[in-house]
Amino acid sequence: SEDFESAAAQAVARLTAHWAALESLALPVEPAHAPGATARALPASAPERGEPLERILADTWSVVVPGLVHWQHPAFLGYYPTANSPASVLAELVTAGLGVQGMMWSTSPAATELEQVVVDWLAKALGLPGSFLHSGGTGGGVIQDSASSAVLVAIVAALHRASGGGWRTDGVDGRYRAYCTGQANSCVPKAVRIAGLGEPVEIATTAGTGAMDPHALAARLDADRRAGLVPTVVVATSGTTATCAFDPLPAVADVCRRHGVWLHVDGAYAGSAALCPEHRAVNDGLEAADSYAVNAHKWMRTGTPCDVLWTSDRASLTEAMAIRPAFLHNPATESGAVVDFRDWQIPLGRPMRALKLWYVLRAHGLEGLRAAVRHDVGLAGRLARTIDREPGFHLVAHELGLVAFRYGTDGQTRALAARLAADTGLVCTPAEVEGRPLLRAVFGSPYATEATVDQVWAAIRRHAQAC
Ligand code: PLP
Repeated sequence: SEDFESAAAQAVARLTAHWAALESLALPVEPAHAPGATARALPASAPERGEPLERILADTWSVVVPGLVHWQHPAFLGYYPTANSPASVLAELVTAGLGVQGMMWSTSPAATELEQVVVDWLAKALGLPGSFLHSGGTGGGVIQDSASSAVLVAIVAALHRASGGGWRTDGVDGRYRAYCTGQANSCVPKAVRIAGLGEPVEIATTAGTGAMDPHALAARLDADRRAGLVPTVVVATSGTTATCAFDPLPAVADVCRRHGVWLHVDGAYAGSAALCPEHRAVNDGLEAADSYAVNAHKWMRTGTPCDVLWTSDRASLTEAMAIRPAFLHNPATESGAVVDFRDWQIPLGRPMRALKLWYVLRAHGLEGLRAAVRHDVGLAGRLARTIDREPGFHLVAHELGLVAFRYGTDGQTRALAARLAADTGLVCTPAEVEGRPLLRAVFGSPYATEATVDQVWAAIRRHAQAC
């Protein structure tokens, strides 16, 4: 343990210095690494004899860190952010150190009860419907590793409900259908396939919005019912990956209610904005959703993984996922008085997932998390206004912390994307909407400032002039 104490102190010192280097822009965002460079720097097999932690730590910084993309860097504007903060890091250390496995209430009662309380806290902080609360009756929340797992679990719950439980014995016979737009994150079609429903039915978006057309949805559900199919689940998105578009939840929910179809809402990124009253509209329509997921690890200063999935129909979800082998029997489960999170997720085992969110919510307070959202929204506003004023550039979308834009023709936009991809000083990611390319920049680094925005813009403009 002495070795641990000194190595842990060194790790903390190294991390603190690393964060300071990110803040002062002393590191590039991306490595200029050729494929295989890190692998070649590592021995071909594991050491026979144990090595001191300090040496392993030193190698982390000499071999691994130079090959990383720094997602916390102020000029990292790619994908959607993956958040972090000292409170989150500390909680991960403590979680690992306590080393419990919380698959059931009985395997660590406090782990389960802390999670129930913390996901209820978060639901209230986001202003979610009371039907999603553990303390609210038929619903409840659970921490998943990812929005991908959350949507798969929701689809299986929907399948359970639509088939009256029959899928567990009979499997899926090709009649069950899932629906989403082409702008849903790739994890949605993947989950639909894994659940055995084949490809999701693609619902058209309203031209120029990237958002689901509820009339197209209603027409397709009607047609599928007439054809003897079983519309099972609609996955709507609050904040699509390409342009942060919002499917119109009240209208979509209305269609789902009329057809008795499960509505899952993916709010992986944008859901966190509801912490701020001025962004609460992202929740409109959620009261009619059957399930909803938000990635705290995207925009809530909580390191990955930490997705929260809520459902208002706990029974369908847990009956779909329930397993009862003899080795899991215990009096608490049999009493029916406790929650066993093994029945809310795909894996059996799980770490104590709630400690991280608990530390973050307490250390930052809701005020601190709101300030973070407002900071990022403010920086995106600065970039959007600049792009909007610049001849040759076209602002495609500006929502929350995301700015999507084009430069000149589609060919020039693609050329700009290629030049930015080769620049290790910033990360922006490309996307496509209605067959046309665009570039997107999303703010999420705690170290980004107005000066960073101006530097990033100067680089984008310089590259554009060469396109
Ligand atoms: N949903 C949306 C809207 C996303 O943007 C993303 C990832 O960026 C995902 C889902 C997938 O999230 P995860 O990596 O947690 O599965």
